[in-house]
Parts: sequence; C-alpha cells; structure tokens
Amino acid sequence: MEKKERNINLYLAGILPAGFAVLAWVIYCFPVEKINAGLIALSVVTVFFSSYLRIQLPRTKIHLTISDALIILSLLIYGGEVAVLLAALESCYTSLNLRRQGISIKTKTIFLNVAVAAISTFLTASVADYLFGATETVANTANNSRLLAMITAMAFTQFVVNSICVAVFIALKSEKTVWEVWNEYCLNALVMYFTGAILAGVAVRALQPINIFLFAVVVGFFAIVYMTYRRYADDIKKTSAKAEQAERERAEQAENHIVELQRHIAEQERIGQALRKSKERFRYAAFHDALTNLPNRNSFIEKLKFSLEKHKQNPEYNFAILFLDLNRFKTVNESLGHSIGNNLIQAVGKRLKELIKDDDLLARFGGDEFAIILTNIKDTDDVVSFAQLINYKFSYPFNISGREIFINTSIGISFGGANYEEAEEILRDADIAMYYAKDHNKNYEIFNQTMRTRAVTLHQIETDLRYAVERGELCAFYQPIIALGTMQLSGFESLIRWQHPQRGLIPPNEFIPVAEETGLIIPITYWMLEESCRRIVRFQQLDPNGSPLFLSVNLSGKHFAHGDIVEQIQDIIIKTQIAPQCLKLEITESAVMDNPEKAIAMLKRLKNLGLQLSIDDFGTGYSSLSYLHRFPIDTLKVDRSFVGTMEDGTENGEIVRTVIALAKALNLDVVAEGIETIHQLHQLRILGCEYGQGYLFSRPVPLDEAEKIVADKNRWQRIIPDNNPNAVAQNREFSHLRLMNS
Ligand code: C2E
Ligand code: MG
Ligand code: MG
Repeated sequence: MEKKERNINLYLAGILPAGFAVLAWVIYCFPVEKINAGLIALSVVTVFFSSYLRIQLPRTKIHLTISDALIILSLLIYGGEVAVLLAALESCYTSLNLRRQGISIKTKTIFLNVAVAAISTFLTASVADYLFGATETVANTANNSRLLAMITAMAFTQFVVNSICVAVFIALKSEKTVWEVWNEYCLNALVMYFTGAILAGVAVRALQPINIFLFAVVVGFFAIVYMTYRRYADDIKKTSAKAEQAERERAEQAENHIVELQRHIAEQERIGQALRKSKERFRYAAFHDALTNLPNRNSFIEKLKFSLEKHKQNPEYNFAILFLDLNRFKTVNESLGHSIGNNLIQAVGKRLKELIKDDDLLARFGGDEFAIILTNIKDTDDVVSFAQLINYKFSYPFNISGREIFINTSIGISFGGANYEEAEEILRDADIAMYYAKDHNKNYEIFNQTMRTRAVTLHQIETDLRYAVERGELCAFYQPIIALGTMQLSGFESLIRWQHPQRGLIPPNEFIPVAEETGLIIPITYWMLEESCRRIVRFQQLDPNGSPLFLSVNLSGKHFAHGDIVEQIQDIIIKTQIAPQCLKLEITESAVMDNPEKAIAMLKRLKNLGLQLSIDDFGTGYSSLSYLHRFPIDTLKVDRSFVGTMEDGTENGEIVRTVIALAKALNLDVVAEGIETIHQLHQLRILGCEYGQGYLFSRPVPLDEAEKIVADKNRWQRIIPDNNPNAVAQNREFSHLRLMNS
C-alpha cells in the first residue's frame, strides 16, 4: 500500500516539475506580438467551450472533444508556445469544470493533467519542428501531403506521450500492468488524436482566404458528421442504458425469483415436515390403540411373525400367546356407562403392563380383548404361573372414579411352535382356547386339538343352521306345566329341537348361542312362535270347555333387544288366533338385567299386547329388587339348579323358599323348573309353589305325544296318593315352621 503511494508520488515528482518547467519556459518565450483577435477567439473557444463539445465513446471512458483539434490548430497557426499554454489552460479548466459538476478529481490529478497536457503538446511541437520545420510555415506554404505527414506525426506524438503518461499513472494506482492499462483505456483514443489532427489540418487549409468555400463545406461536413455521430452515440447510450436497465430488471427479477424460490422451498419443506409428522401420527395410529396407547392388533401380529421366525431359526427360543377377554365387561359398560367402561379398560391395560417384561408384548385388540406375547419361556409351567398371576392380580378391585369394580378374565393360551406356518394361526388357537375357558367358566385354558375340532363343529353348526330353517329341520317339543295345587295340566313350554340329517336330534344349548351370534335367532323364534301358537290353539279346540291351556315360549336376550319384536308377536297373534293372555313369553333374568331401563320399556310394550311375561332361570342372574317390582311381569321361574338340589335345610332350599315368598309379595306366579322327584314335588306344594315342570311329569315331547297328554290332563293326580288340598295346606304350615326353625 505504502509502496504504491510512494511510486505514485515518485511519478508525480518526475512529471509535475517537468510540466511546470515547460509551462514556465513557454510563458517566458511567449510571442506577445502574435496576440490578435483571432488568437483570443481561438483561445476562448479552446479553453472555455471545446470541452462542452465532447462525446463519450460508447462503452468506453474516452471523451472525444474538439479541444485536441483546436490545440493542433493553434499549433499550426500560432506555434508551439501558444499551443502549450492553451493545452495547459484547457486541461486545467476542463478538470475544474468536471470537479464542479460533482466528479471527484483530486487536486494533484488536476496538476498532473495540466502537466501532461503541457509536456505532450510541447513534445508534439518539438517533434514537428524537428522533422518538418516551423509548423506555421508548413501549415501556410507546404503542399497537402507534407502537411498531412506533419499532422500525422503530431497526432502520433501527442497520442504516444499522453497515453504513456496516463497509462503509467493508472497502472501505478491499480494492480494492472502499464501494458494492460494502455491496451484497455488508451489504445482506443488513437482515433481521437488522428481525427483531431486531421480536423485541424483541414481547418488550417480552409482558413486560407482562397479556400473559404472549402472551409464552409468542411465545417458543414464536420458539423453533420458531428451531429450524426452525436445522435448515433446518444442512441447507443440510450440503447445501452436501456439494456443496462433491462439487465438490472432482469437481475432484480432473478433476485425476486430466487427469493420466491427460497420461499417456495421453505414452504415445501414446511409441508414436507407436516406431511412427515402426519405420516408418523398415522403410522403410530396404525400400530397403536387410541384408548390405552398400547400396541394394537397390527403391532401384535408383526411381533408374532418375528417371534415365529426366530423360533424357526432357533428352536431353543420359545414363546406363548395369552388371549384375554374380560368377563361381563358388557354389563359394566351398560350399567355404569361407557366412560367408566373406558377408564376400566385403561386401568386393566396398566395392570397387565406391570406384569410383562421388556421383551414381551401387551396389545389391546379393541373392546375388552387383550393379548400378550410371552417370550423366553422355559416350559408350560412358566405360562400357567403367569396366567395364575394375572388372575391373582385381578382378584383385587379396580378403583374407577371412586367406585370399586371387580372384573376377571378368561385367558386362552397357545404355544408358538414349528407346527405353525402363519402367525395368525397361533392367535386363532389362543382365541379358541379363550372361548373354551369362557364357556367352561375357567380362568384359563391351554389350547389343544379337541378345542379346534369343537370350534370347527361350531362353525359347521353355523353353516348348517342357515339351511335348517329353510329345510324344515327345526321342530318344537312340548313340556307340560302342571298346576301343583290341582295336579292338572295347565300349559306347555315349547322347546326347540333341531333334527340334523347327520347328527340326529340336537338340543338347543348347542345351537341357540350360534343362532344368537349370527342373528338367525330372529327367524327361528318367529318360526317357533308361529308353530307352537298354532298347535296350542288346536289343543284348546280339542277341549273347548276346559280351562284354556297356556303356552310358554322362550325369547332370546339378543332377540329381545331387537326393535321389531313387538310387531312380529302381534303379527303371530293375529295369524294364529291365539288368545293373547294364553301366550307367555319367557325372558332370562340376565337378558333383562343387562339393560334394565330398556327392558322395562320393551316389556311394557309387549305387555300392552295382552300377553303374559315370565322371568326364566330366576336366581341365576343378579336381579336387583328395586328393578324387579318395576318389571311388568306375571311369573318367576325358579331355575332348575335350585329345585334339583333342594333338600331340607340346604341353602338352595332356602333360595327356593325365598323366591316363592318374594313372588307372593310381588303378586307373581311361581313356576318351579326341573322337578325330578316326588320329594321335590311335595316340598314345592308345601311351600305353595303354583306351577311346576320337570321330568317327574314329563320330558319335553314331540307333538303327537303332547296330544296324548292333552287328552289325559289329570294323569298326574295319580302320583300324589292323597291329593287333598287341606292336607297340602297343613303340610305347608308344618314345613314352614320347620324351615323357620332350622
Ligand atoms: P329353559 O327355558 O329353562 O328350559 C328348560 C330346560 O330344562 C329345557 O331344556 C328342559 O328340557 C330342561 N328340563 C325340564 N325339566 C327338567 C328336569 O326335570 N331335569 C332336567 N335336568 N332338565 C329339565 P332344553 O329343552 O334343553 O332347553 C334348554 C334351554 O334352551 C332352555 O332353557 C331355553 O333357555 C333354551 N331354549 C329352548 N328352546 C328355545 C327357543 O325356542 N328359543 C330360545 N330362545 N331358547 C330356547
Ligand atoms: Mg324357558
Ligand atoms: Mg329355565
């Protein structure tokens, strides 16, 4: 930096004194005698106006002025001293003028310009003088070729001196070499010097009196050239300004475009991120249960596949599946509400989660179903202990919103092994085992092949049952119901049977649950009702004078919840012409207690048809007394499990007695089911039970046998030797006291 400054100063120190020495010398030698109006006019034009008449060469920093031409002209007319002085003054004035216009020019640069102008003009004059003699003489007298040669030499000298001085100075200031600067900035100015010099030469010749006309033509010609060129230069300037503007706009546009693009990219990134997040959420949702946040069935199957694969590669690695289903969860949900039900599911999930190890997996399949993959087990005992642990943990109540809820599970267990090809098969077997455990009231069951056979049979039943209705394979059996006071037939309970073409007579317990599951219970019940109502009307017609027989028909809990049931029964009453009061519908206690409020509404609608209602299997469910008196029922049927084991003094005997007392308090009839012994019959008569049915009287029988029973209504009076109503009353008192005392 300092070196550069030093070199510039060195350069200036060389040039400036030389320039001012030249100036001093020309002032000293100035030919005062040459001063005339022409010189003054030329000086004024050169110094003050020539710089205004300048054109910038397009795309360069070169300004074409006529000042150079005028200086050469002054050199040709008035000699070197005048020309040097004019050049210095013109340079000084032009520099000051530019500075005044706001262009920054340092004072030392102005001095340099003046010095260079002086030196170059001085050397030009000297070269011309040396080569051609006094310039004024050559200009006035010599022929045109000599004049042309001289002005060429002058233009060349002026150009060389000026351009070298300027190029050296710029090179010192910049990083470039003198050659680079000269080539870039100065070479183009060569034309300017030659044009100026030729202009001056032509002007000198034109100024000679004989050539006034030529002068006018030349001036005119140059004026036109000047104007044309100026217009051309202006056009180019405008075009290039436009081009620059367009380029600027393009650059701006490009910049805007980049900004827009960056915004777009940012937006895309944001969208991408949101998409990624939502994908993650979807992925999470796809593999997790929303209520418990536990893995769901999909996750479970994935892990199961992995475990099965691992076992195939390493038979030492053993695992088992536990399929869990909560017992009576539906009742909790419907009686305590779905929100408590949900909280219970969450609590169950939490309790199970505490029992499993890191490598195991607990999943919720939805509803009240959970499943566990137990890994790294040694033998069956490990799994059994784990199932027992679950049952033990579930023996404690769950505290949900301040309530204590007891719930237990049925667990089906299956072991992963080489005999399985697909993961789903292991799960299916655990599911079968779970249903088996549920059906057999067990806490857990380990899967075995018999269960699958049973499951397959159930599936077969389901398929066959669909055709059974159409093919007329269903039939009604009738079991007589006896009035225990008179020992007379008072009615029948119709019980369904399935005459299977291959398997023979199938009892209802084997297919009613399937029919309930599949919805087939609805057409089956409709058929049963229509068939047995028609028969009972015929029985009644056989004995028009006797007290009319009633008919009990069982209604499934599933059907009971079906909206169309009232219309269907009304339809059957009309079709079969049965007196509605002779038709009794039996609904199990658990069916009505599942949703008591709904049951009350439905029972009232049925009751409005004029028929009778009975609660079947009473004592096996969980009837609340507060509900019982609100049910519009006529009869309680004591479940046969109590009657069958009622012995004097046993708990079941006590239950039967209590149910009978309760029925009396609520003004209901009582029917005792499952009377098999005479002893049971006696006891029931003593307790004042109105009706009874059981094998003691008759098994459920087909139609033709039922007809025989109708024909011999009093046949059972014979099994009671002393069928005296008073004796029964006395016995009742006696038994009552005994029961009270025991
Ligand atoms: P349920 O309504 O309680 O019918 C009484 C069941 O006890 C009948 O079994 C009957 O054969 C049996 N039973 C009667 N007396 C005795 C006895 O002295 N000892 C013993 N051990 N059993 C006796 P069944 O016919 O096998 O019917 C079983 C259950 O199937 C019925 O119980 C009823 O809930 C259901 N069911 C039968 N028919 C139909 C039907 O048409 N529709 C619906 N929804 N369910 C039906
Ligand atoms: Mg029944
Ligand atoms: Mg029953």
